[in-house]
Order: sequence, then C-alpha cells, then structure tokens
Amino acid sequence: SIQKAGWNFDNSYARLSGTFYTKQNAAPVRSPQLVILNEQLAASLGLDAKALRSSEGTAVFAGNMIPEGAEPLAQAYAGHQFGHFTMLGDGRALLLGEQLTPSGQRFDVQLKGAGATPYSRGGDGRAALGPMLREYIISEAMHGLGIATTRSLAVVTTGEEIIRETMLPGAVLTRIASSHIRVGTFQYIANWGSSEELRMLADYTIQRHYPEIDMDGEHRYLSLLKSVIKRQAGLVAKWQLVGFIHGVMNTDNMAISGETIDYGPCAFMDTYDPTTVFSSIDRQGRYSYGNQPNIGAWNLARFAEALLPLIDDDINHAIVLAEEAISDFADQFHHNWLNGMRAKLGINTEEEQDEELVQDLLRLMQHSKADYTNTFVALTHNKLEDLPMFGSAEFEQWREQWHTRLSRQQGIEATATQLMRSSNPAIIPRNHRVEEALEAAVKDGDYSVMEQLLNVLANPYEHSPGQAKYSAAPEPSDCAYRTFC
Ligand code: AMP
Ligand code: MG
Ligand code: MG
Repeated sequence: SIQKAGWNFDNSYARLSGTFYTKQNAAPVRSPQLVILNEQLAASLGLDAKALRSSEGTAVFAGNMIPEGAEPLAQAYAGHQFGHFTMLGDGRALLLGEQLTPSGQRFDVQLKGAGATPYSRGGDGRAALGPMLREYIISEAMHGLGIATTRSLAVVTTGEEIIRETMLPGAVLTRIASSHIRVGTFQYIANWGSSEELRMLADYTIQRHYPEIDMDGEHRYLSLLKSVIKRQAGLVAKWQLVGFIHGVMNTDNMAISGETIDYGPCAFMDTYDPTTVFSSIDRQGRYSYGNQPNIGAWNLARFAEALLPLIDDDINHAIVLAEEAISDFADQFHHNWLNGMRAKLGINTEEEQDEELVQDLLRLMQHSKADYTNTFVALTHNKLEDLPMFGSAEFEQWREQWHTRLSRQQGIEATATQLMRSSNPAIIPRNHRVEEALEAAVKDGDYSVMEQLLNVLANPYEHSPGQAKYSAAPEPSDCAYRTFC
C-alpha cells in the first residue's frame, strides 16, 4: 500500500500565510507509467523503491493519488525574466509537501507538469517527456559533479499528448529540493504581501536554510542576505569551473538555498568560448557562460531590494548595507573560481601570478577552439599531444611556466595529479550524448541508453579508461546545439 512507500510529510510552507500559495490538487492523467526511478535518492529519503514502483506509487508520481499527510499547493512567486519584472508562480508544478527523512532532513517533493494552477497564465500546466528526462539527467549529473542542485526522483509518462509545435508525450517529473524558495518568492511578497508577511518569509527561510544565523541578532536579515550571497558565489563558481551554462538565470530560477534549480535550456559547454549561449530565446547573450557571474550579482541585488525594509528602519542606511554586501559577491566569486582553477591545474598554494597563468591558458584554449573539459583532462593525464594548441610556441611557453609553478609548491608530483583528478571531471553530460539518450527513450521507449549515461555521470571523477565514448567531444556536425524551452 501507499503507506509502505514511506511517505512522511510535513507541510510547514502550507502553514505560512495564504498569500504565499494556492492549495490545489493535481489534475489526474489518463494512464500513468513509471519510466525512471532514482532508487538511491528514494532510499536516502526513506522511501521504498518497490512500493514506489507499484501502481499506487506511480499514481502518486502522476498526481492521481495524494499520499496521506500531503497538502498539495502551488507556490506564488514573481521574477525578473530577461530583466523584466513579472508575476509568475507555479504554473505547472505542485508542492506535495515536505518529506521528513530518517536522518531528520526536510525536502520539498514537487510534481512538475501536474496541471494548470491559478499561476498558469494561459499555459496548459503540462510538461513534455523529453524536457523532463533532460532535467532528470542534467540534475543528476550536477549532483555527481558535487554541485548543489535539486534532484530528480522519478518521471512518469501520462498517456496523454500535449500540444507544443507538434504533439508530444506528456510526463510528470518528481523534483526534490531543499526548498523551492526563490529570489522571486521574496520579490513577490515584497511587492504584494504585507511587511509582516515579508518578515515571516525571511524568518522561515533563515530557520530552514541558515539556522546558524542568530534569530535574535540585530542584523539577522542582513546576515541572511550575506549568507545567500556567499552560497551563490560558491555555486556560480562551481558552474564556471565545470562549464555549466544555466541558460535562464531569471530571478525566479535562483534558489535561496543555493541549489541549482530549473533545468530548461541549460547545457555544458564543449568548445571553450565565454560567449557561448544555448538558449534559443537568449539572443542578447544575457545568460551566456561568461556573463553568469554578472547575472548572479544582478539577481542578488534584486533579492537585496526585496529585503531592504527588513535590513534597517532607515531605508538609506539599509541601502548602504545592502550595496556593501552585494559588492562582496564579485570578490567572493572570484576567490572561489580562482582557487578552483588552481586546483584544476594541480596548484595547492596561492601566488600572485596564478591568475595570469589561468587566463593565459584560457586564451590559448579559446584561440585554438579547445574542448573545455578535455583540455583539463589532457593536462591531468599529461597527454598534451591531445590538445589542439600542442606544438605552438605559445603553448610550450605556457607549459613551462605551469611546470615551474608546480615545482615551487610542496609535495610530490603525485599530489598535484591527485588534486587534478578530483578537480577535473572526465565526464560531463555532453549534449550529443544527452540527445542520443532522449531520442532512444522518447522515440523508441528504450531507457537503457539513458540508464547507462546516468551510471557514468554518477562518477565523473573516476577517470576510468573504458569511458571514451562519453568523454569524447562532439563531431563538428553535432555542435550547433540549441535548446528550446
Ligand atoms: P521557467 O522558464 O521554466 O522558469 O518557467 C517560467 C514560468 O512559466 C513559471 O511560472 C512556470 O510555472 C510557467 N510555465 C512554464 N511552462 C508552463 C506550462 N506549460 N503551463 C503553465 N505554466 C508554465
Ligand atoms: Mg522557473
Ligand atoms: Mg523551467
């Protein structure tokens, strides 16, 4: 039965003011079928895979059955989309509730594609199978890479078609997050809620995500802002270090928890080029790879604006404090990024000229159209002849400087190699491999390609020899990759 699955819901968000959400049940679907289940994640949530695979388990993932203790709701939020402020909210997602795990953690369980809500703005509330599987793959890849992210528990097909440019099979993704509170949630309450509600949201967020902040402290909301800035500076640095491009860094897609959220037109960069954009709707390059740190700071400034009334009674003083905090983001990002780059080059101490060494390499990579991931893999395994810039005088000079730099640090060569192996993934979810897995699944109902890909993506730092198929850069014909959301 459903109880045996291990659902153990609390609904703390539903106990907040009604302004924050609309209670709503999912719209049932015709004939749900479970196509993929994350058994390891299920176990860590205290859920029983066998029960989840039963028809009742599948009914829960489809929104056809509400497990005991869940109080489904659609969350209200706003957001700057490509710079323009809009009222949004869960237009196709429902929060079932918060699963309390055996180890005492709390995770949102959200059905994405569960039907229309008051926030759907004319949309059908549904999701297509391909994009839900894509979110599953990329989010699990991010987890494998050690990057904070929402997780994917399951995908069910609905047995219904949805209308996009063509008819597509419908699906529901069950997303697990430490919460779905976004910068846009604060923007929504700051604009349309009362000052008590804004304080309620901030206090709730502190207790849920930043319990180390002293709730009686005078500057607790400034501390909240600074804590979120710190986590986002760490997160965006990790994105840059692995070549991840989020694609839609709207303020509604930035989680206050510091998890990567909302995998739409995201992708990993193959050839190194800071201007890389994958989203077909981002014609200005607002969300290009190289611009992600700037947008991170921009989004956090919107978060700070929403918090201003809580930061200080004197609004001018609040602005000064908020601006100081925001200006720290760039330094913190840069510090995280540079240390991460040092590690990618096997460097475990700090020297002034390290940044130049890194920038010189990036310049060489860009000029020779080198693959971002595989350049660092080649350096790790000392297979320099694999690099397109191998043999050039510039590269030879760089290599010499790098080796000289390494010779100045303590420890044996093995230490640097070990650091590089654990800092440079051999495997990323290459667009052509992801597309291949999606095509097999969506067109042929063959999930084995996706399962194999997920297996490899779970251990990206293994550097095992048998994985050439997954680590190879795409052929030029596979390169003109664009995602459509
Ligand atoms: P996203 O670009 O995925 O962050 O979504 C932006 C907004 O559009 C969110 O409020 C979504 O809930 C909403 N949305 C996206 N797709 C649909 C859909 N098919 N039906 C209703 N709302 C949607
Ligand atoms: Mg979104
Ligand atoms: Mg989305």
